[in-house]
Amino acid sequence: RASWVHRLRQGLRRTGSSIATVFTGTRIDDALYEDLEAALLMADAGVGATRFLLEDLKRRVKEARVTDPAAVKGLLAEAVAELLQPLQQPLVIGRQTPTVVMVVGVNGAGKTTTIGKLTRHLAVGGHGVLLAAADTFRAAAREQLGVWADRTQVEIVSQQGGDPAAVCFDAVKAGQARGIEVVIADTAGRLPTQLHLMEELKKVRRTLDKAMPGAPHEVLLVVDGNTGQNALAQVQAFDGALGLSGLVLTKLDGTAKGGVLAAIALWSRQRSDGRALPVYFIGVGEKLEDLERFDAREFAQALLG
Ligand code: GDP
Repeated sequence: RASWVHRLRQGLRRTGSSIATVFTGTRIDDALYEDLEAALLMADAGVGATRFLLEDLKRRVKEARVTDPAAVKGLLAEAVAELLQPLQQPLVIGRQTPTVVMVVGVNGAGKTTTIGKLTRHLAVGGHGVLLAAADTFRAAAREQLGVWADRTQVEIVSQQGGDPAAVCFDAVKAGQARGIEVVIADTAGRLPTQLHLMEELKKVRRTLDKAMPGAPHEVLLVVDGNTGQNALAQVQAFDGALGLSGLVLTKLDGTAKGGVLAAIALWSRQRSDGRALPVYFIGVGEKLEDLERFDAREFAQALLG
C-alpha cells in the first residue's frame, strides 16, 4: 500500500513541488494567492476548479484565523480532499448474473491494460470473469486482450472482423448460460472513421440491453491522467453520448499533473442526474497489480507534495 502512494507521489511530484513552493514564504497575502492560482492552473485544475478552490481556501483561512503559510497548505489539502470526496466510491458487483461492465476510452488511454488489472482484481475477490473482445477492428487489441485473459486465466469471446455488438451479445449470453458473475466488454477507441465511434458504442450499449435487460450495469471510461484538460473533454464527450457510471484514471505513476481531477469533480457536480461520477480506480503502473482504489485524501496529499 505504501508503495502505490509513493508511486502516485512520484507521478505527481512536479505538480506537488510547484504547489508546495507557494507556501514557503512568511506571509499570507495576495501574492501567495496569485502564485497558488498559477500553480493550480499549471497542475491542470482548469479555470473553474482553480477559482472554486481559491475561494474555498480563503474562506477556510478566514475561519481558522491562520497566519502561517504552512498552515494554509493544510487547509488547501482539506479543500481539495473535500472537492474530490464524492468521487471516492467503490465498484460494487451486483447480484445479477452476469454484471455487465462496458469499458470505453480512446486508444492509448490504457483501456486494455486496465481490463487486465480489473479482471485480476475481481478474480482475487472471488468473482468469475468473462471478457468480450468488442474492439474487432484492431487485431492487436484482440491479441492483447487475449494475453491478459491468459494471464488472469479467464475466458474470452472474440470474433475476428465481426460485429462488436454481436460479440457483446454472445458474451452476455455465454455469461448467463455458464453463471459467470462479471462480463467485461472491451470496446474500440478509434475507428477508421472517428465520427462513427460514438454511434458504434451506442449500438453496443443498446445490444447489451437487448441481451440482458438493464445491461450494461457499468459504463467505465478509462482516461489517461497525463492528458490534462483533454481528460475532462473526454469525460464530457463519453458521458454525453453514453452516460458513464464511473472512471478509471491511468498512468498516475508517470508525469501526470493530477489537477484535472479537481476539474472533473467540479463538473461532476453539475451532471444532469446530479450524481458524482465515481473514480473507481487509479492506474499506477503497467503491471497487473498496479490498480488501486481511489482515495480522495491520499490523492489530495500527493497532489500538494
Ligand atoms: P488502450 O489502447 O487504451 O487499450 O491502451 P493500452 O492498455 O494498450 O495501454 C497503452 C500503454 O499505456 C501501454 O504501454 C500500457 O502499458 C501503458 N499503461 C496503461 N496503464 C498504465 C499505468 O497505469 N501506468 C503506466 N505507467 N502505464 C500504463
